[in-house]
Amino acid sequence: MSSASPGSTTGTPRRPEAARSRPTDLATDGLPTLALRGVTKTYPNGKAALREVNLTVPEGDFVFLVGPSGAGKSTLIRLVIREELATKGKVILEGRDLARLKRREIPRIRRRIGIVFQDFKLLPNKSVRDNVAFALEVTGTPRSRIGPAVDRVLRVVGLSAQADQRPGELSGGEQQRTAIARALVHDPRLFIADEPTGNLDPQISWEIIQLLLRINEMGVTVLMATHNAEVVTALRKRVIGLEDGRVVRDEMGAAYHRED
Ligand code: ADP
Repeated sequence: MSSASPGSTTGTPRRPEAARSRPTDLATDGLPTLALRGVTKTYPNGKAALREVNLTVPEGDFVFLVGPSGAGKSTLIRLVIREELATKGKVILEGRDLARLKRREIPRIRRRIGIVFQDFKLLPNKSVRDNVAFALEVTGTPRSRIGPAVDRVLRVVGLSAQADQRPGELSGGEQQRTAIARALVHDPRLFIADEPTGNLDPQISWEIIQLLLRINEMGVTVLMATHNAEVVTALRKRVIGLEDGRVVRDEMGAAYHRED
């Protein structure tokens, strides 16, 4: 490997100390998967849900997005998956300005993102296997590739034995793991989890978090919006706090509540 390769530490100058405490300046520390630059989102009713948000998420990062209800977490996620467009500023995913994508480019860039929600959003009449396979069928993946891809992600989430069961026959944790498998099947580079443990009891929540950590160890960038203070504080990851549409904190190795 060349010493000049991205992310290499040999032969490249060390990052200045000042940048370490300012995660928004980490753009040079690996390819940024996601960047928001001066992003404001005002809904048609005049509500400003995000105000002048700046943040950079380098490839491979694990980020908790915290803040009270109404702070703007879901809006931020909707902008990243290009369900909404910023009113002002730029949302950049893997170097692409989402506002400038051509319509036909949107499905491809969306497949770079895997997303799971608090309420799983599974198809109730399909088996675990078919819920996951469906995500590939709708994108025209050849049938011969679907079976092996589904088997692989079901192994990752530990659901091979439940492949033929329907969501109604699964526990909450198993339903969330099915949703995670479905989100993984396109090999996303960014994994977004919007309150993934909101409907789960504490022990099952930890199992889901362990799975997200493993996905992160596989090299996937993870952005998780959560109110789960115990998990955030125990893991000491990067924490971005939103309040009233503004980033009010962005700290490495942080707890759920600010400690200063
Ligand atoms: P969070 O996910 O942190 O609870 P949201 O992003 O859902 O926050 O909401 C941020 C603010 O924007 C809230 O005041 C909410 O009422 C408002 N909001 C969210 N979606 C819409 C919408 N579609 N139209 C108008 N206002 C909205």
